Amino acid sequence: MEKRKVSVKAPAKINLSLDVLSKRADGYHEVEMVMTTVDLADRIELTPLDEDKITIESSGGFVPLDGRNLAYQAALLLKEEFHITEGVHIHISKHIPVAAGLAGGSSDAAAALKGLNEMWELHLSLDELAERGAKIGSDVSFCVYGGTALATGRGEHIRLLNPPPPCWVLLAKPPIGVSTAEVYRNLKLDNLQHPDTSGMMEAIQEKDFSKVCARLGNVLESVTLDLYPEVRQIKEQMVRLGADGVLMSGSGPTVFGLFQHESRLHRVYNGLRGFCNEVYAVRILGE
Ligand code: ATP
Repeated sequence: MEKRKVSVKAPAKINLSLDVLSKRADGYHEVEMVMTTVDLADRIELTPLDEDKITIESSGGFVPLDGRNLAYQAALLLKEEFHITEGVHIHISKHIPVAAGLAGGSSDAAAALKGLNEMWELHLSLDELAERGAKIGSDVSFCVYGGTALATGRGEHIRLLNPPPPCWVLLAKPPIGVSTAEVYRNLKLDNLQHPDTSGMMEAIQEKDFSKVCARLGNVLESVTLDLYPEVRQIKEQMVRLGADGVLMSGSGPTVFGLFQHESRLHRVYNGLRGFCNEVYAVRILGE
């Protein structure tokens, strides 16, 4: 019987809140993040190969096409653990900006895990896939589940939440890539303005849009804003143009705005277009 191709969507995430609690002895940071997936997505296509190898190709974005690619690492991990002797070709249609704070690489890895679970008939549960995802990167576990969740530990402990109130999201990415490691190196743990994580979870549970906007907070934001003034400018511009709530996602540089009304989203979108050449109007998934 001819083996079939598997195609999986890999959506981007934004952080509605991101807190760093401490630095651990193993070098990782202890975090508390409320994350949600949005409908800007890569697509991962997996084609079985008779030959025992993993090949990777990408269209639409510059990502490493070797063992550094997180989707490649996902395939290698399952292949080794389950002694799979056939190969796979991974094609990534890249739509999520790279090194943008949107977890593009982690989402590709999660999609590869899910797709190969199906292709190689491994029958792993989402929990089992997420556990393996954590070995690849701290955001991969969340991306395996998608939706909206609280992520703790170094990001790998996931508690699923209800979807946030329906709203529009504008993503604006300045033409720079940000290194997460550099942002963490510049983060001073004493004297942080911690976001109200439990308040954000309450606001989501109550589907209270104004409360969600009021509770947006990210301790990495001021670090990136100081390192990259263009990110600060985009944030200020989005606030000035009238977004209901504005925050930087992850370690940046993408800044997102939340909108209750589509008409205002369009106004801000048009206002930003001359200012920032990568702007996306999206929805939160799973409403
Ligand atoms: P996060 O929000 O999880 O910190 P990010 O959105 O800031 O992630 P990514 O787009 O995942 O960043 O890219 C981070 C690094 O990972 C880049 O340097 C990139 O070269 C590498 N990378 C490896 N595999 C991929 C992939 N499939 N897609 C994008 N980047 C990848």
